[in-house]
Amino acid sequence: MIIRIVKDEGPITGEQIAERLNLTRATLRPDLAILTMSGFLDARPRVGYFYSGKTGNQLLGEHIRKLTVKDYKSVPVVCQEETSVYDAICTMFLEDVGTLFVVKEGGFLVGVISRKDLLKSSMGNQDLQTIPVGVIMTRMPNIVTCRLQESLLDAAGKLIYNQVDSLPVVKEGSGRDQLEIVGRITKTTITKAFVELGEGSSV
Ligand code: ADP
Repeated sequence: MIIRIVKDEGPITGEQIAERLNLTRATLRPDLAILTMSGFLDARPRVGYFYSGKTGNQLLGEHIRKLTVKDYKSVPVVCQEETSVYDAICTMFLEDVGTLFVVKEGGFLVGVISRKDLLKSSMGNQDLQTIPVGVIMTRMPNIVTCRLQESLLDAAGKLIYNQVDSLPVVKEGSGRDQLEIVGRITKTTITKAFVELGEGSSV
């Protein structure tokens, strides 16, 4: 109702809208604040309220594009190249993750190990205690990464486009071509953000 009045008569002041609805300005204030904050209405001091012309879908899209990797990343679980396949499997269970990132000294990214990488290497009946993950991992520079300032939407696109479950969040290390791992974004991260959006509680 408020949106319709503003659409038809805007720019219109809060008092005028209250008059049309036979309400007091104070009663209306929280509703006007919500409509302005969510982007349906624009407010200009001393002029009044305008209809922004944006649909709910456009506003949701704008909101989603503002979510960043930095605010949603979780803690990465890492191992070393020398870690055995057996120990990597144990770490996955203990830490309850589906992907391990392989790092060298200083936390620099060298590889990624997924569930299926470990399954594949377990199928040949080899001694899992003696095979290091370094020989089965996906190696740099073939690792798809994301950055702290990147949008969560771009990171989600990378997960889908590259058909992987998880991306390491990296920042430039001191040395050449060195990427320091500072977090991870997984399909679960995106699902959580989606649920938050639906519940109206996203950051
Ligand atoms: P799984 O197939 O085990 O469910 P993924 O789909 O994430 O898990 O992994 C598929 C393959 O892609 C694996 O060989 C894994 O090493 C590799 N991989 C996983 N994450 C990445 C990434 N971010 N960049 C490049 N390769 C990856």
